[in-house]
Amino acid sequence: MDTITADDLCFDQKHIWHPYTSVTAPIPVFPVASAEGVNIKLADGRVLIDGMSSWWSAIHGYNHPQLNEAAHRQIDHFSHIMFGGLTHKPAIELCRRLVDITPEPLQAVFLADSGSVSVEVAIKMAVQYWRCRGDKQRKKLLTITGGYHGDTTGAMAVCDPINGMHSLFRGILMEHLFVEAPTCGFHDEWDERYIAGFEQALRQHHHDLVGVILEPIVQGAGGMHFYSPHYLRRVSELCKEHGILLILDEIATGFGRTGKMFACEHAGIVPDIMTVGKALTGGYMTLAAVMCTEQVSKTISDHSVLMHGPTFMGNPLACAVACASLDILATGVWQQQIIDLEQGLLEGLKPCREMSAVAEVRVLGGIGVVELKQPVDMHTLQPRLVDEGIWVRPFGKLVYVMPPYIMNPGELAFLCAGICRVVDELSR
Ligand SMILES: *Cc1c(COP(=O)(O)O)cnc(C)c1O
Repeated sequence: MDTITADDLCFDQKHIWHPYTSVTAPIPVFPVASAEGVNIKLADGRVLIDGMSSWWSAIHGYNHPQLNEAAHRQIDHFSHIMFGGLTHKPAIELCRRLVDITPEPLQAVFLADSGSVSVEVAIKMAVQYWRCRGDKQRKKLLTITGGYHGDTTGAMAVCDPINGMHSLFRGILMEHLFVEAPTCGFHDEWDERYIAGFEQALRQHHHDLVGVILEPIVQGAGGMHFYSPHYLRRVSELCKEHGILLILDEIATGFGRTGKMFACEHAGIVPDIMTVGKALTGGYMTLAAVMCTEQVSKTISDHSVLMHGPTFMGNPLACAVACASLDILATGVWQQQIIDLEQGLLEGLKPCREMSAVAEVRVLGGIGVVELKQPVDMHTLQPRLVDEGIWVRPFGKLVYVMPPYIMNPGELAFLCAGICRVVDELSR
């Protein structure tokens, strides 16, 4: 691949928006030469151990022979074809696998082009479900604070109303209903008072609701909180009791990250609608899916059509790679990998628990979180982490990692030791 010149970097800083950045006050970015396994090689020759899996997605590591092979095979066939009126083997195979590995009631699949779009589609499904039942009044969703569901307007409206972008986009976003996020941690003993706020909101507003939307067990970019499976079970029971659709956003949690294939399995429940994305293609390219029960798909389909159809829907290249990624997961090796990651993260991040800058250390499955008392200064912290030879991208008060599943104990210890050293400096 062509090398990155100083001129290229200058152009990048002046003309290209990176996620959540300014083009007039850009933050330095690190040019990447290549990536392989758990290693990211920078253009200056430094090699970083990757703690981010490119935002939850590259679960099998970079440049994976089986995923490469699937992409090569498909691109020599055809890389894209419209999905309107046409179909193809990669999409059929992928949807067959998705129906197989998700809980049994989820039977219909809609392929979307990104996580945020899949959330939009899930919301549209819930709206159309009620319209098709002749109920034209319902408009709102009920959710919890601290959530993250994506950056498009429909999804933003159900993100955390304080940390999210509600104030910036006031008047543009739908106003939904929020209850306080669960305060019971993953392992905490259950008490019915934890669900009281949610229960009351549902009783009071269920006539206005098209559905409830939540990230199951792990709230990702909204704060990296883990909550009790009992809470999720009670949410599911209450939704059933009131006939309200439950939408679970498994975009971050899906495909094994929390120790179950899907996080809803911790609670033994099945949503009416579920979104998956991020790790779906093993981090190779963008693809997401919305799945729903027959009750939802039939209600919509008997009266109408589902009103969505992206240009690049069911992209064969992405579907082929996703099939290869699901084949790797089908070996079941991921289960031991997540157990080992959890053990290594608990052990490796333990020293942080004693540090004065640290509010809390949390670990669940392949996710490790060091929550600080103060927000970090990314201008100084990011280069410091890179100096340690690790790729970790903190936000706000959170220094967190979700390494590729293939990371070995030595690499994980190195990653955690680097985090500990940097957090220790913040504590001085
Ligand atoms: C990342 C994420 C999204 C948005 O997915 P994009 O592919 O970035 O649009 C939605 N929901 C959750 C839970 C996520 O973690």
